[in-house]
Amino acid sequence: MEYRVLPHGAEQISVIGLGSAGIHNADAAEIERTYELAIDAGINHFDFIPSEAAPLETMGRVLGRHRDQVHVQVHIGALYESGAYGWTTEAEPAIAEFESRLRALGTDYADFGFIHCIDEDADFDRVMNGGIWDYAQARKADGSIRHLAFSTHSPHIARRMLDTGAFDLAMFSLNPMYDYTDESEYGQGETSDRMALMHEFERAGVGVSVMKPFAGGQLLDAAASPFGRALTRIQCIQYALDRPGVLTVLPGVHGEADLRDLLGYLDASSEERDYSMLAEMAPQSREARCVYCNHCQPCPQGIQIGLVNKYYDLAMVGDDLACEHYLNLKHHASECIRCGHCDRRCPFGVAQSMRMSEIEAYFGR
Ligand code: SF4
Ligand code: SF4
Repeated sequence: MEYRVLPHGAEQISVIGLGSAGIHNADAAEIERTYELAIDAGINHFDFIPSEAAPLETMGRVLGRHRDQVHVQVHIGALYESGAYGWTTEAEPAIAEFESRLRALGTDYADFGFIHCIDEDADFDRVMNGGIWDYAQARKADGSIRHLAFSTHSPHIARRMLDTGAFDLAMFSLNPMYDYTDESEYGQGETSDRMALMHEFERAGVGVSVMKPFAGGQLLDAAASPFGRALTRIQCIQYALDRPGVLTVLPGVHGEADLRDLLGYLDASSEERDYSMLAEMAPQSREARCVYCNHCQPCPQGIQIGLVNKYYDLAMVGDDLACEHYLNLKHHASECIRCGHCDRRCPFGVAQSMRMSEIEAYFGR
């Protein structure tokens, strides 16, 4: 397993986490096996909000057994009154449900206490002024929420949340379909605005846990994908992990076999992880913009081209740490010999050798 560090904390978070969608179809024994296997494999980040109430007790029992090893996202605003997942901005039921989730875990704290699924200004205002926000802040102060977090599908709401300066983690819907098409309500915002938001997360030190990395499975099926071609799970995971700010991807699984398939990402080759085929699939990506895919590797000078570009983009939007990270790299843009290999290889049409000159001029190295 690979791990990334939460910027506002010391937690090491596994790059593959586990979402809760899909597991409600499994029986209790299958859920136990799946979650135990996940923990054995080094997964330590779990969302705790299945599509139906039935698995909550089993999930809570397994996660509770490993409480010190795992981070759990517990949401304030999810409801299971009818037995199926529901949602509210009313403080009283939201808080009651949150506290019952802690009891199910056999614990008195949430690693991440989530302001849950806010996509509209009116809902944002209700949550911030109607009791939920005061409650979340009070729990953060008394330690029963270790980190404040939020989930949204809306870049606009994400920015309102970021403006509070109070959050350490955001759960955001992210995949190539949501970034490059407007075919889903879960993928709000234009391509460039969504890209800019990822840089804003990174600059604010707010880590991102990715929901819907396969667009609910649509991207894995050529007939259902808006691109008319399928991507693999491995490509979708790599795409998400390459976006600035992202710490972990949280796909849902139906059971043990599904999880084993997902864990295949860890042993996947760079060819299997390569998602540069997106350049042919998504018209918008033909803008000559580096998406950090590393398809242009290997550079004969050993320059990590995707990473160099990511740090440059981050530095350009005011991230001082990005400059430090860049300077700490072993090889810098100044070592580019203009061989043109990257220019020929880049499917997105980026004139990378010219960009290396620009990056060298900016960082002075
Ligand atoms: S220059 Fe092109 S191929 Fe290289 S990392 Fe950027 S987008 Fe990918
Ligand atoms: S042009 Fe520069 S950055 Fe690109 S592959 Fe050649 S040496 Fe590396």
